[in-house]
Amino acid sequence: MQEIHIKSYIANFNSYCQQFSEALDVSAELIWSFQKAEYQLAVDQLMLLLMEDVDFILLSQSQLPYPHPEQLKVVGVFSSDSDVYDPIVLLTLNPHKVKAFSWIEGGLCQKLGKVNIAGFGPGNPDLLTVKAHRLIQEADIIYYDDLLDNNYLNQFKAEKVYVGKRKGQHSAKQEDINKLLFASALNGKKVLRLKGGDPLVFGRGAEEYHYLKRRFVEVEIVPGITSALAAASDAVIPLTARGTSTSVAFTLGHDAIYNKLPKADTLVFYMGASQQRKWAQRLIEEGWAENTPVAVVRNASLASKEIKRYTLWQLLSSEVVLPAPALLIVGQTASRDAETQNRKWLYTGTDINYFKGKGIVVHNPMINIVSQQATCEGMRALNNLKAFDRIVFASPFAVREFFSVLESKGMDVRTIANHQLSSIGASTSSELKKFGLNVSPTATDNSAAGLLASFKKNNIKGESMLLPCSDKGLSVLPAGLQSLGNTCFQLKLYTAMMPDNVVRHNLDDFEGIVFSSPTAVHHFFKLHSTLPPSLKVVARGEYTKALVHQYLETVKLTKVVVISEE
Ligand code: SAH
Repeated sequence: MQEIHIKSYIANFNSYCQQFSEALDVSAELIWSFQKAEYQLAVDQLMLLLMEDVDFILLSQSQLPYPHPEQLKVVGVFSSDSDVYDPIVLLTLNPHKVKAFSWIEGGLCQKLGKVNIAGFGPGNPDLLTVKAHRLIQEADIIYYDDLLDNNYLNQFKAEKVYVGKRKGQHSAKQEDINKLLFASALNGKKVLRLKGGDPLVFGRGAEEYHYLKRRFVEVEIVPGITSALAAASDAVIPLTARGTSTSVAFTLGHDAIYNKLPKADTLVFYMGASQQRKWAQRLIEEGWAENTPVAVVRNASLASKEIKRYTLWQLLSSEVVLPAPALLIVGQTASRDAETQNRKWLYTGTDINYFKGKGIVVHNPMINIVSQQATCEGMRALNNLKAFDRIVFASPFAVREFFSVLESKGMDVRTIANHQLSSIGASTSSELKKFGLNVSPTATDNSAAGLLASFKKNNIKGESMLLPCSDKGLSVLPAGLQSLGNTCFQLKLYTAMMPDNVVRHNLDDFEGIVFSSPTAVHHFFKLHSTLPPSLKVVARGEYTKALVHQYLETVKLTKVVVISEE
């Protein structure tokens, strides 16, 4: 008679002996052996045993390594009397021996129900997947979380069990949920575990999966739409956008002090509703610009949805913020103004603070100011500043370079204490302020024409004027000042070069461009021969504007060029 050897690693195997032999399909004798094993067994040990000594092994799930060794075939899973959550399993290496136990399926062996772990999506049942919907219809029992529409679930026949973990309210521990799922599977039920959003995004779906899989339950994970995607759709925020955001991170927000900050262009914080202001502070501390847009989206996908927009700075000091469940989306693309979203402006000047438009600014300076030795004539003028009545500053660079040369000659602001000072516009005035000089802008539009008109109105004539400027000289001012009856000396102190690291951007990606000075225009057209017809153009000053037109004429393009406010 054939002998079938079974080694048991569970002590009370006697109860199985009788039943196993009665159920044998073939004429064979069961030979039992027992070995004590307190701990998990090694795969090699089990394999060797099955290859050389015995046909089957009986052991409890907790004694078996996990993930289960692929080579081992599970013949049957049996409920354990001592611990229902630690089922007993009969294993073999030799599938044809299984035939001997073909009875098992219908008899002793536990018929485990399948568990599906499915995402419900962000809340609105319209965003369920077709598969999740089918599973809801078919389930015998549904274990569901918070943030799920249970009115919707009530239409279905399944028994519904709430296992949410809402803060401060009744809460089910993860271990308890695992056990409930397993117990239902043991009862042979079609179990559906429904989770908000996606089961694997801050959802602990994998823990449930492995708990069940370890116990030989068939489990499947069905994805859902994670709430970040619904929030982004509701607020029309591209989580990635060409040229602006090339990466997005879904990140845990529940502790703004200790949670790690990922490196990505767009950040989405889950479970961070109570930490909104703290996140704003942390991000600013970590170097995010204070004007970075933030959107907070509550109840995404539902009729009750709310969207609030801030900059990091505004959020930091805001009095009220939206309560949970909410997501924080941080990054350039979270901007309030859908029109300007994704729209980039190219700024060609050196100081980005002068950019007054809307949108995302790409800073690509097209001038690099390099100081130059003054000419002999220039030196003479500097040594005899008393000879001038007035110094006219026509750009912030002129201010900087003038004071730099004064300093190099051992002089300072006191040297010009008795001079009249004029500034062409606000940015030049704010540069003068850095040297302790309070000079209001003469022209409101930062233009030579504006300055001349103001001088004319105020009858400024018969003066000797010093005009610090670049080696190219000033275009309109000197002649204009002279025609008002003044004498002018252009003190050439610097040259404007093309920076070495200038970038040649694809201009089709841009909404507009700002030309900060005539030199920037010259340099730009050296780099790009023309402008795309749709590109908006802003110029600082009439002369800069006229120069753009001149270049455009040569390529037979007419375009509206707007003068910037400053
Ligand atoms: N697995 C879920 C996330 C669970 S963590 C998913 O993929 O979406 C719970 C957090 O998700 C909440 O604190 C909140 O930050 C976010 N959340 C879930 N549903 C939301 C909704 N409809 N609107 C806004 N935030 C939501």
